[in-house]
Amino acid sequence: MNILLDKIVSRLEKAEISSPRLEARLMLGKACGISADEAVLLQRELSAEEETLLEEMLEQRLAHKPLDKILGSKGFYKYDFTVNGNVLSPRPDTEIIVEEALKLLDSGITQNIADFGTGSGCILLSLLAENKRWQGQGVDKSEAALKVAAENAAALGVESQVSWINGSWFNEDFCQNLKTPLDMLVSNPPYIPSAEIAGLDAEVKDYDPLSALDGGADGYEHYRQIACLAPYLLKDGGHVVLEVGLGQAQEVNNIFAEQGLCPVRIIPDLSGIDRCVILKK
Ligand code: GLN
Repeated sequence: MNILLDKIVSRLEKAEISSPRLEARLMLGKACGISADEAVLLQRELSAEEETLLEEMLEQRLAHKPLDKILGSKGFYKYDFTVNGNVLSPRPDTEIIVEEALKLLDSGITQNIADFGTGSGCILLSLLAENKRWQGQGVDKSEAALKVAAENAAALGVESQVSWINGSWFNEDFCQNLKTPLDMLVSNPPYIPSAEIAGLDAEVKDYDPLSALDGGADGYEHYRQIACLAPYLLKDGGHVVLEVGLGQAQEVNNIFAEQGLCPVRIIPDLSGIDRCVILKK
């Protein structure tokens, strides 16, 4: 029995943190520079420095800072991604976007993939890591987010496959900076209606960048703009692969279809919520 670990678990439990034992292992491991599995077996006393580190992490977690933003990394798809307050934390729900995109990309030739609102880079970099032939352009209006994405590209060894574009798809000259035509446009844009942001979970609204969440008055502002551009950016036969919020799939499908793209399919995530919308030029 690991008494220290049990003490951490009970403090987390009292604060109603949902996976207290897992989180306790991860924090103890991080404080001691060992893996979460090794943390379970830890028998020795902590050094003063380790104890301070652990206590600092615990205090942040007890104040409901998300664990990944404390640890500085989050597991997504097959890899660990560096995260900080400048990027949206990668969500398990988003892994379906990677899985579906992979089914559509051609593994035998170069593919030109753009990711609109790349954030930590988790979608684009997961794709590029699957095939050395594929090239990506990660777009984000936040320069600070692109720094995180570039760090992640280096960690995955895909820097030579990716370029970064610091800009907004609402700017007039935006398309000039993109290398086209695209085989695929992927995006998990901000999609929460502005008025709903105040009601989000504190772990989301206080720690994910607002600019990565706010989808405008009805939540569809970014989809509308991306839909206007997509027909000009995509190759014939190229795909758009989009993440959408709860209840948005049909409307997003319509928005893109109105711009002339052909609906391919809508796929639910692991909770059964329609999460991924795919269309084709
Ligand atoms: N999935 C995030 C949430 O529900 C929102 C991400 C986004 O707007 N793209 O909080």
